[in-house]
Amino acid sequence: IYGPARRNSRGVNLNIRSHYQPLMKQMASFMDVTYRAKPLLAFDVADDAAQLKTVTSPFDRRKQVGSVQWTTKEQASKALDAAWAAFPRWEATPIAERAAILRRLGDLMEEHMAELMTLCSREGGKLLTDGVDEIREAVDFCRYYAMRAEETFGEATELPGPTGESNRLIMGGKGVFAAISPWNFPVAIFCGQVVAAAVSGNTVLAKPAEQTSIVAHRVIELLYEAGMPRDVVQLLPGDGPTVGSVLTSDPRVTGVVFTGGTDTAQIINRALAARENAPLPTLVAETGGMNTMIVDSTALPEQVVVDVIQSAFQSAGQRCSALRVLYLQDDVADRVIEILKGAMNELRIGDPRDLGTDVGPVIDEDARKGLNAHIEKLKGEKRLVAETPLTTEQTEHGTFVAPVAFTIDSIKALEHEQFGPILHIVRYKAGELDQVIDDINGRGYGLTFGVHSRNESFAAEIAQKIRAGNVYINRNIIGAVVGVQPFGGMGLSGTGPKAGGPHYLLRFATEKTLTNNT
Ligand code: GLU
Repeated sequence: IYGPARRNSRGVNLNIRSHYQPLMKQMASFMDVTYRAKPLLAFDVADDAAQLKTVTSPFDRRKQVGSVQWTTKEQASKALDAAWAAFPRWEATPIAERAAILRRLGDLMEEHMAELMTLCSREGGKLLTDGVDEIREAVDFCRYYAMRAEETFGEATELPGPTGESNRLIMGGKGVFAAISPWNFPVAIFCGQVVAAAVSGNTVLAKPAEQTSIVAHRVIELLYEAGMPRDVVQLLPGDGPTVGSVLTSDPRVTGVVFTGGTDTAQIINRALAARENAPLPTLVAETGGMNTMIVDSTALPEQVVVDVIQSAFQSAGQRCSALRVLYLQDDVADRVIEILKGAMNELRIGDPRDLGTDVGPVIDEDARKGLNAHIEKLKGEKRLVAETPLTTEQTEHGTFVAPVAFTIDSIKALEHEQFGPILHIVRYKAGELDQVIDDINGRGYGLTFGVHSRNESFAAEIAQKIRAGNVYINRNIIGAVVGVQPFGGMGLSGTGPKAGGPHYLLRFATEKTLTNNT
């Protein structure tokens, strides 16, 4: 397991030029390639110009990455036939063979790191440093799930029984899984979902996010190179109403693994539940958050600001784990805000392929519009604290949103998760802490949470009271490491189990108890 390049706010800092220069040299050869992605199915798919969508770069919409051919409804249901037919054979494939494919994919992604990173940048607008973290996380998922799958799906567990009777617990797959993945981690989360479902003995229909289908296509090509049969994992690029609806309405789909918005998870849940003559569905959903951090008067302001900047603005705030609401105790609020303003002033917004850039673009025009509407509303209420300015070039050609901080009265003032570089600050007084905790828990989300305090018992008490899946004390709240910080929330933030955790594969598995009265 290697985790992200920049582990945490005071850990090893590998964000140095000499580390990235060789990678950047290799990346240069992938900067101008024009890609052509299409559905990767168990059968051949003919070229279809009517289904072709052009893909451009979020940092400059004049730059083309290539094109993607979307999947038709007919192709999606034929792919389902193939996945359904392949399930018994794949489930019976020895676990050593299944796990070996994951390990080979991990090795191949390492070999192709420069190309995958370039695509993450060109298609998804990700910074190079985020790209390194992303590919490493994907590799970690492959190796970690391979290891856990061997433990889980290897030998049957022998259970006690009366004399003459043997009892064994045998683990298998569930059937066909749909993997519906997000654009913000187009390699790591996409790959994590697909390999977890497949290594557990399921066949998989993967629908990547519309915005990042090209890099997903490249990952699946590598997965085939690693030895994955084409009818076991198929790639269905396309939109939710076309491809997603085939996957969620067909009774042969046993489960869905999804990462994205809470609203979409609810739509999927309802669609699965509405099917007739279908098995009771499994939904593994990792959804949104309204992640908070509480800072008390004993915290170190400089440390707080470093961690707040990373948590709120790294990846342009486009992480489920990102900080949305910062609660500052009145006694330290002015000091922290003053340093924060200075730090935000120094943030460099720009081309994600440039090593000096701190904040890249947001994913697309829709995202920018939604975020800007929220920004304008809060500016209208005169709540602006700090804003990092944008250049006209950025506003005209790319989908950039200025990192911005506002004051609000409470988390209750926020109707929706704002998935971008927007930080909200709330001041609280020491006596109001119980109310603060009630407000945060009462909002219903529970993904990440941070507390900054040098009073250990205070930090421990808050950490215990807050209902969130990933709680961080005295550090940033992003960048969970596979196998080290299993990731996922509760309540409106997701169903669990946690990605990169020891229980994840169990949700993709069935258990059979075999009793033999010999
Ligand atoms: N695992 C990522 C992190 O800890 C966030 C994943 C997501 O955005 O869905 O930052």
